[in-house]
Amino acid sequence: TSHWSHVPAAPPDSILGIASLYRNDPEKKKLNLSVGAYRDDNGNPAVLRVVRKVEQEPAPDHEYIPMAGIPSFCQAAVQLILGEKAQSIKEKRVVTVQSLSGTGALRVGAEFLCQFYRPAATTEKPCVYIPRPSWGNHRKVFQSAGLKVSEYKYFDPVSCDVDAKGLLDDLTNIPSQSIIVLHACAHNPTGADPSKQLWKQILQVVIQKQHLVFFDSAYQGFASGDLEKDAFAVRMFEQSGIEMLIAQSFAKNMGLYGERVGALSFVCKDSSVVASVQSQLETIIRSMYSSPPANGARIASRILNNPVLFEEWKQELLEMSGRIQEMRKLLFEALVSRKTPGDWSHITKQIGMFSFTGLNVEQVRYLREKYHIYMTEDGRASMAGLSRETVPLFADGIHDAVL
Ligand code: PLP
Repeated sequence: TSHWSHVPAAPPDSILGIASLYRNDPEKKKLNLSVGAYRDDNGNPAVLRVVRKVEQEPAPDHEYIPMAGIPSFCQAAVQLILGEKAQSIKEKRVVTVQSLSGTGALRVGAEFLCQFYRPAATTEKPCVYIPRPSWGNHRKVFQSAGLKVSEYKYFDPVSCDVDAKGLLDDLTNIPSQSIIVLHACAHNPTGADPSKQLWKQILQVVIQKQHLVFFDSAYQGFASGDLEKDAFAVRMFEQSGIEMLIAQSFAKNMGLYGERVGALSFVCKDSSVVASVQSQLETIIRSMYSSPPANGARIASRILNNPVLFEEWKQELLEMSGRIQEMRKLLFEALVSRKTPGDWSHITKQIGMFSFTGLNVEQVRYLREKYHIYMTEDGRASMAGLSRETVPLFADGIHDAVL
C-alpha cells in the first residue's frame, strides 16, 4: 500500500476549481468570468505591446539573480507605488525584495511577521485581519505561514458598497497592534473601494490603535487607468510616517501573470533596522525558493526604468482599464433595457476587474448549468472576461436567473 493512502483529497480552490469545470465543459459558447485575467475584445489573452517589444531583446544570460531579486526592479517597483518623492525612500528606510508575484510577496511577508512581529500589547500569536469578503487566497496564505486569521467588516450587501461604519467599528474594537490587510485599490472580490474620506478615517484608527498595515496592491493602474490615483491610499499612509508592509503584483497591470513578477516592501520608521530586515527576508527567501525568477522582473524593470517604454505602458493601461469600464457600462445598459428586476447601478460604480453582481449561489449555478457561464459562487464576475459579443448573453442569463 501507498504511504499516502490515508491522504484525503483537498477541496478544490474556490476560483481555480471553477476554471477547471469551465475547461471540461464541451459547450462551444461557454463563457469564463471566474478567473481574474484580462482578455481582449475577442476573448483572447493579451500580451502588452510594450512587453512584446522588450522581449525582442534576449536575456544576457540565465545566471541566478540575487536572493532579493534584481535591484533596479525593486527600486522602480517601490517608487511606482510610493511615488518618486516619497520621504521614506529619501530617508532610506524602505526595504524591497522581489517576490513570486503578489501571492509570494504576501507569503514572504507573512513568514516574516510570524517570526518577528511581537506586539507589546499581547503575548499571543499575532492575528491578521482581512476584509470580509476578501480575495479567496488571503486566508490560506497567512494561515500557511502560521498566523491566525480573522476578519473585519467590509461590504454591505444591501447598498452594494463599503460598510464604512462596520469597518471603522471593527478596526476600533479589535486588539491594538493587530495586523490589518488592506486592498490598495480595486477591492477583490467586491470592486468597492473606500472613499478618500473613509481612507482618512481608516488611517486615523490605524494610528490610534497602532495597527500594522499590510497593503495588498494587485491592481495599480489597472483599476482607474491612472497609476497615481490607484496609489492614493498607500501614499497617504506612507506620508503619515507609520510602518507598513506592501505586496505588489505586476500580474494584471503588465499582463505578466505566469511570469510571477512582484515585490514586497517594508516601510520602516528609521533606517537603522533596514539591514536586519533585509537580511532576514533574504534568509526566508533562501529557505523557501532560494532566489526569484529573472525573466519577468527584467521585463518589468526595463519598462519601469525607461521613460519612453513607461509612457507606452501607461497608454496600454488606459486601454485595458477603459475596455473593462466599457464592459461595465454595456452590461448595465443591457440589464436596464431588459428591465431586469433589481438595481444594477453597482456594476458601473464598482472598480477594477470584477463586479460583485449580487447573484446568489443558486443563481450562479443556474447560469453555469443553463448558460455555460462560469463565475465564482460568491457572485463575482470578471468584467475583463466579457466582450461586446458576450455581454448580451450574460445579460440574458442574469435576467433569466433573477426572474
Ligand atoms: N491580491 C489580490 C487582492 C488579488 O486579487 C490577487 C490576484 O488575483 C493577488 C493578490 C495575487 O496575484 P498574483 O500572485 O498572481 O500576483
